[in-house]
Amino acid sequence: MDVAPVIVWAIDREGTINESRGHALEAMGYRSGQLVGRSIWDVYAHEPHMLECHRRALGGEVVRTQTRSGGRDYETLCLPLKQGEEVSGVLGVATDITERVEALERLDYLSAHDELTGLTKRSLFERHLEVALSRTARHGGHLAVLYLDLDRVKAINETLGHDAGDELLRQVAERLRHGVRSEDILARHSGDEFLVLLNLTQPDGSRVGEGEAVQMATVAAKRLHDSLRVPFVVSGSEVAVDASIGVSLFPTDAEEPTALIRHADEAMYRSKESGGGGTVLYQEIAGDRPAALTLTADLFRAIDRDELELHYQPIVDLEAGTCARVEALVRWRRPERGLVPPGDFIPLAEETGVIERIGEWVVDETCRQLAAWQRRGLTITASVNLSLREMRHPDVVERIAGAVEHEGLPSGSLMVEITESAAMTELPRMREVMQGLRARGVPMAIDDFGAGYSSLGRLRDIRGVETLKVDRSFVSGVPTDDFANRLVAGIIEISRGLDLIPLAEGIETAEQLEFMTACGCPLGQGFHLARPLPADELENWLASAPAARS
Ligand code: C2E
Ligand code: CA
Ligand code: CA
Repeated sequence: MDVAPVIVWAIDREGTINESRGHALEAMGYRSGQLVGRSIWDVYAHEPHMLECHRRALGGEVVRTQTRSGGRDYETLCLPLKQGEEVSGVLGVATDITERVEALERLDYLSAHDELTGLTKRSLFERHLEVALSRTARHGGHLAVLYLDLDRVKAINETLGHDAGDELLRQVAERLRHGVRSEDILARHSGDEFLVLLNLTQPDGSRVGEGEAVQMATVAAKRLHDSLRVPFVVSGSEVAVDASIGVSLFPTDAEEPTALIRHADEAMYRSKESGGGGTVLYQEIAGDRPAALTLTADLFRAIDRDELELHYQPIVDLEAGTCARVEALVRWRRPERGLVPPGDFIPLAEETGVIERIGEWVVDETCRQLAAWQRRGLTITASVNLSLREMRHPDVVERIAGAVEHEGLPSGSLMVEITESAAMTELPRMREVMQGLRARGVPMAIDDFGAGYSSLGRLRDIRGVETLKVDRSFVSGVPTDDFANRLVAGIIEISRGLDLIPLAEGIETAEQLEFMTACGCPLGQGFHLARPLPADELENWLASAPAARS
């Protein structure tokens, strides 16, 4: 008892202390035995909770509780001492648990704060926001949520390494900390995204109107931009970092924490879309297709967050029964929504321009995968889909051919599929791109041929194409629809005559496969042959392919 962090004491029925010992007494400023003879009701006069515990113990109850005294925490036990049925006194044992409590508090702190930057995490930020919202709702006034996303951090991670990226984030957090007022709440949302909660009041605490609130939030955002203006030095290199900021206001834009954050996020995205480095208020973009905007904002980040994946659908040499190549088809593993098919996001991505980044990722990822397969002895050719918007990009040829060379893949390992409708619009530009691709050794296929309603004569305008993919809609009529039969047979014949290799898309039945083979169509693709598969499943399919295809 002289060394353990405990105190033991005993009182009689009247509350007189007749025993008081233990190392931990010192922390309370007493020596062993010093309290003997005094009344518990005096000693704890200022601690009603302790008095209550003793009173209950004197009533016969075993009382277990946690108490705090002299700045330390104790786990306290008050046991009734009995003589027969009568309670004759109380035995008390208090264990000093200050360290344990502190450790728990530290754990609490850690789970609410970001390890890298020491900033509040999103979960705690939301709690702060909730409290601030209900207070402001009661007393009136305005709050602002700022959503800040750093531009270019991904590139820094890639060129200087992740340690440098971490160091940069630490420094950015430090600058931002100085860029906000002490009463504002700064949090790290995730990766290179930060949140700020601004309590918009006058210095004397009085309320401000909406106009003033907007102005104050704008000024605060400018202060944050300014705080990042001087370049950072990480790993001996000077790096410039910009941020895009979105602002939402309570109660103008939303009344709920998650909606406020989402609106600020959407506004931030708009700033990013228009080049980054600026501030956008949600008010400026409100009413502007919010659902599509959220989707676009999510899609925009899907790449950084590694949410995109590729599935590979085998394209089969119908005569030999072997895998001629594969088509890379993108999927989006959207958190809480599962696997999103491209039809649900490619059109929007094209409309908003996000397709350029997606397309770039698809090309890089396909080449990376082909190189990985090649290192393991699997020689595979893959095609990727290119949309009109990507074709318009001035660097498109270099991007694609460069990716193939960068991975050291043999020329021709990567093919490009261009839809008929894309190939036939803006002909001079398309001709230029197609010539460029051909010169760099990238073979091309015309996708969805027949669905674009262009005349066959136009095929002459897009020379240099290797494959003609006969659209699914024609193949689906085969072999029951006689018109479809003749049309497909005709297209196969014509493409032959034009030195194009026909490929039948969407072969879903054994009958369709049989018909295509009978027509002498050399290549086929479709669920009947194989579905689009993740890379590892494709490997399994290749290993067991002959049986699967017979
Ligand atoms: P697509 O280029 O015509 O791709 C073939 C689509 O047909 C794929 O759909 C594939 O899963 C589906 N398919 C294959 N066999 C059959 C079959 O037997 N029956 C039926 N009903 N469907 C079959 P998915 O993967 O949903 O892709 C849809 C479209 O999205 C693609 O059509 C392509 O236009 C576009 N897309 C996919 N990935 C990319 C990409 O990385 N970039 C671009 N720009 N577009 C992409
Ligand atoms: Ca395709
Ligand atoms: Ca197609």
